[in-house]
Amino acid sequence: AAKAAGRNCIRFFVPEMDTELQARIELESALREAVLHNRFELHYQPLFEISQRRLVGFEALIRMPAADGTLIPPLTFIPVAEDLRLIDKIGTWVLQEACRIAATWPAHLTVAVNLSPQQFVAGTISDIVAAALKEAGLAPHRLELEITESLLLGNTETIMTQLATLKAMGVAIVMDDFGAGYSSFSYLWRFPFDKIKIDRSFMQGLDGSHCQVGTVVKAIIALGRELRMRVTVEGVETANQAAFLDAADGDQVQGFFFGRPIPASELGASILAGFARTMPPASPVTKLHV
Ligand code: C2E
Ligand code: MG
Ligand code: MG
Ligand code: MG
Repeated sequence: AAKAAGRNCIRFFVPEMDTELQARIELESALREAVLHNRFELHYQPLFEISQRRLVGFEALIRMPAADGTLIPPLTFIPVAEDLRLIDKIGTWVLQEACRIAATWPAHLTVAVNLSPQQFVAGTISDIVAAALKEAGLAPHRLELEITESLLLGNTETIMTQLATLKAMGVAIVMDDFGAGYSSFSYLWRFPFDKIKIDRSFMQGLDGSHCQVGTVVKAIIALGRELRMRVTVEGVETANQAAFLDAADGDQVQGFFFGRPIPASELGASILAGFARTMPPASPVTKLHV
């Protein structure tokens, strides 16, 4: 492992270090191989309009198939892909694939794609998005691009310009993981986001002992409304949380309670039709308005 890791490597290994380094090296080489052949998968998690439980679209979430047949989650390999400067290539593939699949869905459904800050460095992201839309024949308003606060840290002039170009094309710009960082609020007035997604830590807090969380969520929803931004609440896992959101008057929900991410091939006609089969059985709390 010492040789493979290069010259500057420390040559005294404790066994665990060796294993950790070995795992990283293996992940890097698997990642390079996957990029070479576009060997990734996108799974799609449904988003529902809150009050009617109507399906409005899906978020595309990447997975990397491992040699043993399991799927490596994005939080494991995306940071490595960023380190290796492979995220541009991966991100372009994600855009092309997500647009291609979404073009086969009923026309009222949207697809959301996550972008890494590195995809804005070259200054070509709007061209890449435009090409993906054109190639797929997907209307721009059916694509949502999710960015996080980390994109907006530091010098943001060129980032804002690129976001504005994308928005002018008709693509929706979404601030993901809202409230997870330290300065989410300070970005709200700097860019007219089409949507904000409240970080799932808020939903976790709601089922815990943090009784103030509900008040904060309601306040963010009200703020979004004032700013004419739609608000999605993500990470809804329990009937309790769903019931709270019914009363809280947000726009959209997303979470394991309503539907997990699944491969495109499993998005059957009944799911795409509207009121998803992925809904839990109706109960007093989660009554379906069919
Ligand atoms: P995200 O954009 O915030 O996506 C939502 C994540 O929360 C997904 O994890 C999803 O499976 C998970 N999730 C959804 N509902 C629930 C729930 O009710 N409970 C819990 N505990 N989790 C829930 P996933 O697929 O592992 O993705 C993790 C992150 O990786 C994403 O967070 C996103 O930041 C990043 N990511 C995923 N796909 C891509 C991609 O194509 N490109 C880039 N750059 N990043 C991606
Ligand atoms: Mg996201
Ligand atoms: Mg994200
Ligand atoms: Mg998120």
